[in-house]
Amino acid sequence: MEPEAVEDYRFVGARRRLIELIRAQGIEDLEILQLFDRVPRHLFVPEGVAHRAYEDSAVPIGFGQTASQPSLQAYYIKLLQPSPDDRILEIGTGSGYLTALLALMGDRVYSVERIRELSVRARRTLDRMGYKNVALMVGDGSIGWRRFAPYQIITVAAASPQVPSALVDQLDEGGRMLIPVGRRQVQDLLLVRRVNGRIEEQSVRDGCTFVPLLGRYGWNEGGETAT
Ligand code: SAH
Repeated sequence: MEPEAVEDYRFVGARRRLIELIRAQGIEDLEILQLFDRVPRHLFVPEGVAHRAYEDSAVPIGFGQTASQPSLQAYYIKLLQPSPDDRILEIGTGSGYLTALLALMGDRVYSVERIRELSVRARRTLDRMGYKNVALMVGDGSIGWRRFAPYQIITVAAASPQVPSALVDQLDEGGRMLIPVGRRQVQDLLLVRRVNGRIEEQSVRDGCTFVPLLGRYGWNEGGETAT
């Protein structure tokens, strides 16, 4: 038997329970719930924490970073509603788990991560699982990825002191972006839309805590708080 198949078998029950937890958070859309069944999260997190992969919580992935809470990612997908023609920009590849979920829904995912080791690990996992519609780049995602802009969807998994203007510039007409914005410790999740050329911002959840977006339009790299 393939090693993956053995692992899969062991994790099937846990994955089903996670899907129930996501449903209990008010995500009832069958297409979204099925996505979480199709992508084995335990293959995206380091082996040492694989037993925690199907908890509905953030999981450490090394380098001081975490894979985001699955129900929050389900909420992202519910709000962004990716469709098969969408070009998606993801800032903060991290484990690559959300990248995989998005790749199953959109046309192509462009994902930027500032920590090379995480990007390399995500690439390896995505390749092993056969994803062909994902492009990864190592760099400062607060400036976006201009080459493939505009994007119909932009998703940011790290918190910023403000909405980076470079990302707004790369948002297509009718496009939508989710980004946590606020202070270092606590943020509002903002849904930003370009409607008839105008930018509309709406807070969809408060009291969130994400790792910081470090870069030109985020927090500065030293980690000290901007004012
Ligand atoms: N969706 C990912 C979340 C990872 S946490 C997952 O579930 O695994 C957020 C990630 O954003 C971290 O890996 C962090 O290194 C990355 N990050 C922070 N600032 C960044 C920047 N300016 N550009 C790209 N990635 C950044």
